[in-house]
Amino acid sequence: MDQTEKQLDKKERAKERREKRRQEISLLRSIPYSGNQKWWSAETVAVVTGANRGIGFQITHQLASQGITVILTSREVAVGEESAKVLQEGGLDVAFHQLDIVDDESINLFCAWVKEKYGGIDILINNAGYSLNIGSENSVEAAEKVINTNYYGTKKMIKAAIPLMRPSAQGARIVTVSSRLGRLNGKRNRIYDDDLRKQLEDVDNLSEELIDATMTKFLEQVKDGTWTSGGWPQSNTDYSLSKLAINAFTRVLAKEFSSRPEGEKIFINCYCPGMVKTAMTGWAGQVTPEEGADTAIWLSLLPDQAISGKFFAERREIHF
Ligand code: NDP
Repeated sequence: MDQTEKQLDKKERAKERREKRRQEISLLRSIPYSGNQKWWSAETVAVVTGANRGIGFQITHQLASQGITVILTSREVAVGEESAKVLQEGGLDVAFHQLDIVDDESINLFCAWVKEKYGGIDILINNAGYSLNIGSENSVEAAEKVINTNYYGTKKMIKAAIPLMRPSAQGARIVTVSSRLGRLNGKRNRIYDDDLRKQLEDVDNLSEELIDATMTKFLEQVKDGTWTSGGWPQSNTDYSLSKLAINAFTRVLAKEFSSRPEGEKIFINCYCPGMVKTAMTGWAGQVTPEEGADTAIWLSLLPDQAISGKFFAERREIHF
């Protein structure tokens, strides 16, 4: 077998493994949660960002189908209200509120409304995201918007929500929809500067400042046109870095939250939904939005959620 054949064979086997896991997951999804696993009720409040379509809409649908009160948020009022109406007409407890995660005023108004109406949040799903990269094209045309939405916007939303996360015995949960493209040690797509990679990997010394400085450096290089020789990930560069940043921030916060006393715990994790057929991918990929939502639901509802600061895909932990 020559090198090309070996590679094709490896790809085939990886495809088979993924297909097998998809089948396992569809079986797992058909098993209902038993009464003693259910720590939640209709009083449990979940917030989903960017929920008017795609994976976010499915996360809203599936959480609400479990009997949770879900706030579907969207930056556009009319489309968000329409999406919420579809679920409300299906008998689900879904409310709508406007929320643009890059807009301070929108975040503040949203948080004040949640506090007034519900008293707090039990589950926050950071799903809102943006990318201009479709297929193998590598565009950094919208790098600022991509980093600003996927990293800074998500970070801003989490920070605003922390004071609202409701103390409880089972702990509040934050789940972020991230991507394998943001892995530090992805085989083909990684930061080539070993020192920087090691620093970003070193969870004990990882800081928000380092993550911000990495994003600033990349965006400066985009502006002055030197980013191609900057040693950044080669595929979906801006998007990959934005997800790498939010993954790293997940670890920073998990460490911070770990010192909270019992009863006030917040568990924070991120996951990759796979290549999902949504507008973002130009409807390419094998995974349906329903399947792509699965790990978010699983992580949000884990009965014993002592897991925090980890990265998942298809209900399994993967490396950052
Ligand atoms: P979509 O493009 O269908 O959905 C993206 C959602 O994010 C839309 O509702 C969009 O709102 C919303 N959004 C964008 N910017 C903001 C903002 N500033 N404030 C609030 N909402 C915003 O894509 P997906 O459903 O595929 O993406 C959902 C998440 O999953 C993203 O974080 C994405 O990065 C991630 N993901 C997706 C993968 C895939 O294969 N599809 C793979 C890995 C991760 P609007 O309708 O107004 O534009």
